[in-house]
Amino acid sequence: TLLKDETVHDLGESVAVPGYDRSALTTGIVHIGVGGFHRAHQAMYLDLLMREGKALDWAICGLGLLPRDVRMRDALKAQDGLYTLVLKHADGTIEPTVIGSIIDYLYGPDDPEAAIEKMADPQVRIVSLTVTEGGYNVNPVTGEFDLRNEQVRADLADGAVPTTSFAYVTEALRRRRDRGVTPFTVMSCDNIQGNGEVAHKMFVAFARAKDAELADWIESNVPFPNSMVDRITPVTTDDDRALVAERFGIEDAWPVVCEPFAQWVLEEKFADGRPPYEEVGVQVVEDVMPYELMKLRLLNASHQAVAYFGYLAGYRLVHDACQDPLFARFLLAYMDREGTPTLRPVPGVDLTEYKHTLIERFSNPNVRDTLARLCAESSDRIPKWLVPVIRENLAAGGEVRLSAAIVASWARYAEGVDEAGEPIEVVDRLAEQLTAVARTQDRDDLAFIRDRDLFGDLVDDERFVGPYRSALASLHRDGARVTLENLDDAEL
Ligand code: NAD
Repeated sequence: TLLKDETVHDLGESVAVPGYDRSALTTGIVHIGVGGFHRAHQAMYLDLLMREGKALDWAICGLGLLPRDVRMRDALKAQDGLYTLVLKHADGTIEPTVIGSIIDYLYGPDDPEAAIEKMADPQVRIVSLTVTEGGYNVNPVTGEFDLRNEQVRADLADGAVPTTSFAYVTEALRRRRDRGVTPFTVMSCDNIQGNGEVAHKMFVAFARAKDAELADWIESNVPFPNSMVDRITPVTTDDDRALVAERFGIEDAWPVVCEPFAQWVLEEKFADGRPPYEEVGVQVVEDVMPYELMKLRLLNASHQAVAYFGYLAGYRLVHDACQDPLFARFLLAYMDREGTPTLRPVPGVDLTEYKHTLIERFSNPNVRDTLARLCAESSDRIPKWLVPVIRENLAAGGEVRLSAAIVASWARYAEGVDEAGEPIEVVDRLAEQLTAVARTQDRDDLAFIRDRDLFGDLVDDERFVGPYRSALASLHRDGARVTLENLDDAEL
């Protein structure tokens, strides 16, 4: 059955479909960057509300700005905005739901004026974004808005037709201001620490380059709430499309698959209301920071803890490594002994349960996440996720033995040769430099951590250097598995 409003109720009982009247919905949100994650996360939460007869004036109009979004436009238009969200449970169960909260989709270049007017419409009270980390146009060296970007420069020219999200949002806000309409809230749902603050800084910087007075108005009137978002959503494959067709008889050009777990912690900071998200499990809080730290230092740092050890031990898929009790014990020990002591109180979260759920999520064989993906871009990850844990524990007189071993596993991995002598493809913007340094470790075992840009002054602290040295020596002498076993015997 081709997914459409007319056909959706003919689908069998195994598929949950929108039980609400979609023709009565009105748009309250314009979302830029409708991809897999948005459809597995924000659109799903809204759909849950709509099933309860709530948030009917908060339906989503998608907005695509890149050429590749033509495919999403065509898929959603042909299906009245409907699509199938498929949860893949660890026991192999597959749970499909047809989501109905996206009622419209605009592809910017088709008619930029229409898209701007949509955003300027007083009914629209939130513009949300999942435009990837790169979508914020941050200069990686200065941390400032990158005014050298060509598209940005074109958008800054007088009378230019907008192409970037910055230009669309700025122009829509200008019209609202001039018409006396309350501004919308700009809600970033990208995986960036302090995503609201980053969005604020970048959108205001663009506006300032265009019109300083407007920039001032945006600074004082437009809220940019922070949020922590979580749900592993891999890219949709042809197998996923085939699965939806064969198992459930749904002809869907672009279904979404994801893990069952979902989390959203959102800062209470809105210009003109918001859907009652807290009624469907979203935590709306004053301060997102403790939740972000929890995610970065438990989830993301644990990914690093399993990545290099797992790869060196011969695993290639995340769930295979995490189903190995030795690895599961190592991750839990890192989280309990070193990650957790650096967290602030996290209201409403049972940390013990959170940590066990993480191991379960990582062990889900249906998600098929790869260790190679987790091993990539380490030089952006270890310094952001693990080094702060080490520093805080050192400052507080806490333990760093397991974190030191994780850093050592990266140093060993960066040599670019695995334990069987096979080459490893090190994917990192600093790959060349890292590999060159790592290969001098047989002469100078601290070479890798002498890089102060990455590790600060850890190399000066004997409490870190001691366990780092012994883990690295053990990795060279005994390999990853035995190193973990020895840590296990000594510590866990
Ligand atoms: P995706 O590729 O399916 O969708 C990304 C969308 O963003 C596309 O519509 C693309 O056109 C648009 N986009 C990219 N760069 C843009 C730009 N410069 N300007 C305007 N639009 C732009 O990816 P996804 O899986 O939906 O993930 C998107 C983001 O969501 C991630 O980068 C991350 O920040 C966040 N996220 C993803 C996951 C996940 O597991 N996939 C989990 C948590 C958070």
